[in-house]
Amino acid sequence: MKDKNILLVEDERAIREMIAFGLRRAGFEVREAEDSRAARVAIADRLPDLVLIDWMLPDTSGLELTRTLKRGRETRDLPIIMLTARAEESDKVAGLEGGADDYITKPFSPRELQARVNALLRRTEGHDAEEVLKVGVLAMDRAAHRVTASDEPVELGPTEYRLLEFFMRNPERVFSREQLLDRVWGGNVYVEERTIDVHIRRLRKSLEPVKAAEYVQTVRGAGYRLSTRPDS
Ligand code: CA
Repeated sequence: MKDKNILLVEDERAIREMIAFGLRRAGFEVREAEDSRAARVAIADRLPDLVLIDWMLPDTSGLELTRTLKRGRETRDLPIIMLTARAEESDKVAGLEGGADDYITKPFSPRELQARVNALLRRTEGHDAEEVLKVGVLAMDRAAHRVTASDEPVELGPTEYRLLEFFMRNPERVFSREQLLDRVWGGNVYVEERTIDVHIRRLRKSLEPVKAAEYVQTVRGAGYRLSTRPDS
């Protein structure tokens, strides 16, 4: 969790300094903002890894700031923890519905906050590890083992899935049959190169209904590639 940049938005200086001190000591880089306006300036300057937002701010409310960030294209994936002095369940619900990822009630100990921050960072990083590969209209959700094209499900056999996964990891690059055999089939000597052509055909067929078959392109004399650009 080192080198993570946290933006702390809190108007009460004493509280802000106390929280920032604890987080810095835990190894985080902390930037401070005293209101929503300053927070937006700081975010525009550099995207933080996580934002802590106090509910009660002097300009717009922390909830409003959260909503604004969740609407922004650049900022909608920012992990946000709301800080509040109010423990009411309705506030918690409002905060989470407003787009906050977590919620912590004052007073809290530095350790409790750190635990929440670490947990949220892990969760958002875990999201990356379970990654969704995207190429053009295609999306491969590896955790769910599911492929969609413009949100339409794509039915694939296991080999076609592996082949597509390899292509989606390496889009726009040409691979020879030999390379594909090596990288996708693990160099199984019992698989003929012709077999690859069969699986390429099946993959195209599976992608036809969702109009993505043309992504799988034959490059004469070289091999195959996955590309969103028209075949030429
Ligand atoms: Ca406040």
